[in-house]
Amino acid sequence: MQPIAEPERRFVVDVMLGKMAKWLRALGFDTCNIHLTRPAQLEFYLARRFCVVTRNRRWGNYPGVLCIAANDPMQQLQEVVSQVSITADEVRFLKRCTLCNDLLEELPHEHAFGLVPDYVFETQSTFFQCPGCRRIYWPGSHPERMLKRLNDTLGWVL
Ligand SMILES: [Zn+2]
Repeated sequence: MQPIAEPERRFVVDVMLGKMAKWLRALGFDTCNIHLTRPAQLEFYLARRFCVVTRNRRWGNYPGVLCIAANDPMQQLQEVVSQVSITADEVRFLKRCTLCNDLLEELPHEHAFGLVPDYVFETQSTFFQCPGCRRIYWPGSHPERMLKRLNDTLGWVL
């Protein structure tokens, strides 16, 4: 029997934390990147159980809002991961487009011909495509470098 799935974590990340938002998407989390300017926005997202993340001290005392201090995107990610207790087994790498936040779709191998460099087509067996921006992803060297940075920063083994 399948265990009942926990509701997935969703994030709203203030516009100044755009790079960190991409890392959250790389981990597979639903992440909006918007300019938080009004309390009504915070209330809207908090009521929908989003985790709201900002560096703007103006929202620091707002209940439920995660106000982080770091300047560096990897350190920011580390703060979020430890503050909301994300564990490595929640990570779904290559699930979401880091640019648009859309869920990636598997692209049949033959459909990738001409859309990726020839050597990539020859050497990779699995491709994913973003339905929004049409960007193609594959588990090649870039994800490996990303994984290394994540593991080094977060002390995980992904
Ligand atoms: Zn996309």
